[in-house]
Amino acid sequence: MKRRGLCLVLVAPSGAGKTSVSRALLAREGELSLSISATTRAARPGEVHGVHYFFHPPEEFEAMEAGGHFLESAHVYGKRYGTPRAPVEAALAEGRDVLFDVDWQGHLLLQKAMPGDVVGVFLMPPSIAELERRLRARGTDSEEEILRRMGKARDDASHWQEFDHVLINTDFTETVDTVGAILRAARTARSRNLWLADFVAGMG
Ligand code: ADP
Repeated sequence: MKRRGLCLVLVAPSGAGKTSVSRALLAREGELSLSISATTRAARPGEVHGVHYFFHPPEEFEAMEAGGHFLESAHVYGKRYGTPRAPVEAALAEGRDVLFDVDWQGHLLLQKAMPGDVVGVFLMPPSIAELERRLRARGTDSEEEILRRMGKARDDASHWQEFDHVLINTDFTETVDTVGAILRAARTARSRNLWLADFVAGMG
């Protein structure tokens, strides 16, 4: 007797705080794990197969895709990325939730692949000035990359209406609390608790 797990899909314009919020959620929420993507890009120093990504040569990736191995896949800068299907289906059937760190296109594809299982959350920065400040404070991108990400922010943000939940990441702790509350509430959806039919029938 177990509820069905769900797919928590967190999307945000780059720099809004998606990675930080995901990490904090994974650290504090039981029954939530991160979906590990497959990719054809090379591993960076310190990246481990099966931990950060599943690394595959392009021919292998294409064969896996043709075999229906992926829930969704994408082409990004000439490399391939995909979400392995089996771990997600196993988790949901066992009542465990899966967190996805994807973009708005990935969210649409996951909605199509797993109808009824996706809970979409869109994170907004408080302002464009604050988005720029956060990108600079993060210190991981070149000036050119920061300008590219800023330029893409409006297009990314225009997809907010495709999501079940939208929130502005102003105070970090409050944002993590709110996404945690969305997760706990979504677990109680009737559609994820059909085991109750047997439970009630057994009440005599
Ligand atoms: P993303 O994954 O969306 O690109 P990050 O999680 O890398 O964004 O966050 C970008 C920067 O903003 C990081 O330096 C992070 O520590 C900071 N940050 C995230 N959320 C907040 C917040 N609510 N207030 C202030 N800074 C934040």
